Amino acid sequence: MGKDFGYLGESKTYLAIICLKCKRTEAVKKELLTNSHDVVFKDIHICKCGYKSHNINRDYIKELNKNKTAVVLFLIDFALFIIGTINGFALSNDSKEIQAIITLVGIGSGVILIGSSVYITKKESEIGLMGNQVLCSYINQENQQIIQYSREILDNKMNELKIPSNAKVITIKSKTKLYKPGKWYIWNEKDFLNLFPLIEEIKYNPNDLINATIEAIKKSISIDKIEYFYFQGEVFRENKICGGGGGGSSVIGAVVGGVIAGEAGAVVGSRKKVDSIKSELVTHDTRETIINYFDYGKRQSIFLEYEDYQTLEDIIPQKQYRIVTAIKDNLIIADLEKAESTKAITEQIKELAELKDQGILKEEEFIQKKKELLNKI
Ligand SMILES: [Zn+2]
Repeated sequence: MGKDFGYLGESKTYLAIICLKCKRTEAVKKELLTNSHDVVFKDIHICKCGYKSHNINRDYIKELNKNKTAVVLFLIDFALFIIGTINGFALSNDSKEIQAIITLVGIGSGVILIGSSVYITKKESEIGLMGNQVLCSYINQENQQIIQYSREILDNKMNELKIPSNAKVITIKSKTKLYKPGKWYIWNEKDFLNLFPLIEEIKYNPNDLINATIEAIKKSISIDKIEYFYFQGEVFRENKICGGGGGGSSVIGAVVGGVIAGEAGAVVGSRKKVDSIKSELVTHDTRETIINYFDYGKRQSIFLEYEDYQTLEDIIPQKQYRIVTAIKDNLIIADLEKAESTKAITEQIKELAELKDQGILKEEEFIQKKKELLNKI
């Protein structure tokens, strides 16, 4: 049985580990562990190569980095130390004192370099871990390739995507087919409302990374297709009464006693002291912000936190429910007004035609007037 598996990184529900024998990496569900902090498997974990162990070494990357850098720097130092010593001897044609001094300088510089290398090694392993942390690691089942997503790779992908620096962050509440709950970037670009999950959220869904490129995760909605956004729900407070000995019944007892014998009766009726009846103020908040839009003629909704309403007002103010309905109402009024004026004009033309028939207006005058009126429609 092997010593342990190496720990590479983790998400909310998965742990990325590496087999120390065949270097195969895989994502294992945290459910399989006794507890995720001690990283011990409930049952023995077996790699495809046959390597098995109960444990996962949390410090695997740290130790790996430390060893690698330490070995390289030690070799460089050792080489410098030798060069220093040889130089000392090479110049030994002069007096014995000078030879001794130069030798000492050679040895001394070697010692100083070893000391500083230990310090640099320590620093470098810290930076290495912070700068290029493995966020997610798993095997692509189709081509059996190991895929590791480090902070660096994801940062590069973010740059490729060109999420503008002024992109806001909103929180999607309920799960729908297209949108997973969590934090998403949101921005308006070239008449499209774009949504993209925060990297911290993506790493919780290794499947997203396996199956999709970042471009595929990005959601774009044409602003034209957005019907409106609005909020619904309310905040209400409930006064919960508890305690008083025997729960609800004693409260009723107190009330009945109170009705019969006044305040003193309330104490008698409640079996226990009145002050043991406690009331608790519970706040319920059912508010949420909703975006409605049409996707191939079908109405879709995105459910957001109530607080995101303000963000939407900043990004797509023209799609606020009141604005949309006000525009719609005004368009209806404008249409009605236009219909009214058209009616008035046709009536005026009719009157002019009568005047012409009665010989009051000449043919040319009628045509001229008619033309002017028709232009107004
Ligand atoms: Zn293996």
